[in-house]
Amino acid sequence: MGLLNKVSIRMRVTLLTGGILLAASMLLTWSSIYNAQDKFMDLNKAAEEPRVPTGGTSIGSAQSEADDVLEEGVASVPAIAAVQAKQSFDSWSYIYLVVISGAGMIVTYIVAGKALKPLQDLNYSIVNITEHNLKERVPASASNDEIGSLANSFNAMLERLNESFLRQKRFSANVSHELKTPLSIMNAGIQVLRLDETPTAEDYKETVEMAERNIKRLMSIVDDLLVLTNDSNVEYMDEINLNQLFLQVEAELLPLYNDKNIHVTHEFELDTILGHAPIVYRAFYNLLENAAKYNIMNGTIEIRTWTEDRMGKISISDSGMGIPSEELDRIFEPFYRVDSSRSRKIGGAGLGLSIVKAIIEKHGWSIEGESTVNVGTCFVISVIC
Ligand code: ADP
Repeated sequence: MGLLNKVSIRMRVTLLTGGILLAASMLLTWSSIYNAQDKFMDLNKAAEEPRVPTGGTSIGSAQSEADDVLEEGVASVPAIAAVQAKQSFDSWSYIYLVVISGAGMIVTYIVAGKALKPLQDLNYSIVNITEHNLKERVPASASNDEIGSLANSFNAMLERLNESFLRQKRFSANVSHELKTPLSIMNAGIQVLRLDETPTAEDYKETVEMAERNIKRLMSIVDDLLVLTNDSNVEYMDEINLNQLFLQVEAELLPLYNDKNIHVTHEFELDTILGHAPIVYRAFYNLLENAAKYNIMNGTIEIRTWTEDRMGKISISDSGMGIPSEELDRIFEPFYRVDSSRSRKIGGAGLGLSIVKAIIEKHGWSIEGESTVNVGTCFVISVIC
């Protein structure tokens, strides 16, 4: 089998089929030679037995001729003919065996080549696909066989790979853009200060403050990216008290809530969940921060927890500006903002919800969002408990 694995499938099919063909032909040849042997022996015996006179003139004379030869101590003519016929039969049987098996193997080789041609074509197409032409597809087979389904599966895999490459490209472009913006602002501020021949202390103060603001922004983007791309395995077994968690988050967000005079209500049926406390805190912080950032003046935020179908549910609803339904699917993508200019003014880089989703998925939980423009948004998280 080890040797077979080193040759092409075409040759393997040929050798295996040829082997089976040869074995079957040998069995057939030997069984017919064996049967023929019996028949020839009967014939031989019949030829050597003393003849009983039959009364016919011609037969009687032929018999007497054979008897003469026997009396002279020489084998009878029919006996010799029978032995020669047997030898000739055996030889021809072996020749047929070799010819039929050989012809069978050649036919198998040709047929296997034809049957495997689509596989070879598929192979040529696959070899030419690189990361630069992931948009190309291998020709789909017209037949509905294994090779057709292999081509379809390969094309589906290319589709997924292409999507993933495009996502990575978009991600890198967005990271560069987000990092470049604060750097460009700082650079411009410093250039302005440089061009000023007599800068005042106030000018320096303004430039330093501007640099501080932008450095903070850069650090927050880098922090978010680290959370988003961190794949290290952490323990998800901390017992997290939801009441305490939300009180802590709200205390941290109090200045933002006070600015907009936002009223927060709670309705807790679920006490604790299991997870990795620091990142779960981060996820709920982002959700509650958004609920305030995108809320209206004097708006409300409602936090509810309950159990349903043996799952824990946590919902965070706000009375804010809402998200158009066609954009709801995209808000979890890194750097995606519903209205770039509006969201940038409010302050985000578009990484908050993608971090929430990554944290939720790391725990094996799920998150869904529902929203109505100018009415509000509700995120529901289903947790295993
Ligand atoms: P950002 O840092 O811009 O807030 P997020 O990833 O947190 O980024 O959110 C993505 C976009 O989804 C936001 O820019 C905003 O337009 C929209 N969004 C998120 N949460 C809400 C919400 N509660 N209400 C309305 N829009 C929201």
